[in-house]
Amino acid sequence: MLLTNSFIYSSLRIRCDGETRWLRRKDLIDTLYAELPPGAVKFGFQLESIKFDPYSSKPVLRFIDGSSIVAKVVIGCDGGKSIIAQFLGLKPTKIFPLCAVRGLTYYPNGHSYDYEFAKVMKDNISVGRVTIDDNLVYWFCFLPYIPKDEKVWEDPEVTRQLTLELLSNHPQEIHQEIHELIENADMKSLSITHMRYRAPWDLLTGSFCKGTVMVSGDAMHVMGPFLAQGGAAGIEDAVVLARIMAQLDLNSVESGSKVMAHKVEESFNQFVKQRRMRVVRLSLQTYIIGMLSGTPSFIKKVIYIMLLVVLFPNPYNHVNYDCGDL
Ligand SMILES: Cc1cc2nc3c(=O)[nH]c(=O)nc-3n(C[C@H](O)[C@H](O)[C@H](O)COP(=O)(O)OP(=O)(O)OC[C@H]3O[C@@H](n4cnc5c(N)ncnc54)[C@H](O)[C@@H]3O)c2cc1C
Repeated sequence: MLLTNSFIYSSLRIRCDGETRWLRRKDLIDTLYAELPPGAVKFGFQLESIKFDPYSSKPVLRFIDGSSIVAKVVIGCDGGKSIIAQFLGLKPTKIFPLCAVRGLTYYPNGHSYDYEFAKVMKDNISVGRVTIDDNLVYWFCFLPYIPKDEKVWEDPEVTRQLTLELLSNHPQEIHQEIHELIENADMKSLSITHMRYRAPWDLLTGSFCKGTVMVSGDAMHVMGPFLAQGGAAGIEDAVVLARIMAQLDLNSVESGSKVMAHKVEESFNQFVKQRRMRVVRLSLQTYIIGMLSGTPSFIKKVIYIMLLVVLFPNPYNHVNYDCGDL
């Protein structure tokens, strides 16, 4: 599905080049899952810790139910609060002064929105909507994060009401539209997320693998949603890693052997080499946009805008990136 991008800042509407694709996370997970052999995935195991076995040097994963696994290879995709990243000695992820409220609104008889990505920003509060199909609309609000309200936000109904209140200063036309979307949202789809990021300078220097353990996806490079590239970068990671592993012909060596461990290490090192600068650039651009959105200070806003203009003269350059074939 091809959508156009429309960013509306105050009354200024900016169209940009490029393509936007939206998909439901569940559809992506179901599609990937369907390709795996039965029994390949075990659900409901929460990782507690990981360490190397002192004799075999293999990674040992310990779960909160007391069970453990001696793994041949660990690729940690355990998100922005990754335990594997912690084990690798990466610095803790940081938090933006913003949170995101998101939801899906279903229109059984169809909606009247264009196929577009529309976004508006006022008083450091951004709201946006995206048409997913003829019946479904995704919407989001980026709001200033207020820590003392953490417990209050756990109730979806309260989240909905507070979000509506925070948006009351938006122009009438936009307020009416988003009000309708939020009022009719599927309560099960409503979520609030405090946005995390791995600092771009930590990405520049971090060690993302050790022996047969590595991180990818958000565990490696969690970034804010301001460029909408975090998940896309995770998919790029998967393509690049799979290609490197295939080129090193991992299938030709005995599973669990020292030769395999050596080849896996080699593939992880190559992966980090290929991915580092791509995720540094994405994260840096996202970081500056996030800080620009979150700061009330006029001076800081000017500095962030200048940094964006100097470092990213073409703000959509990141979409022209090709991570190569699988
Ligand atoms: C508001 C918002 C909007 C976004 N919009 C976009 C967008 O438009 N486009 C885009 O490309 N990206 C977007 N992203 C980013 C995208 O959601 C993430 O980059 C993506 O989900 C990362 O996938 P992941 O699999 O690496 O990590 P996650 O999606 O975080 O998955 C990690 C998994 O590991 C599991 N896990 C965590 N800890 C443990 C543990 N200890 N034991 C066992 N399991 C564990 C979790 O339960 C989860 O299932 C957005 C993010 C946010 C917050």
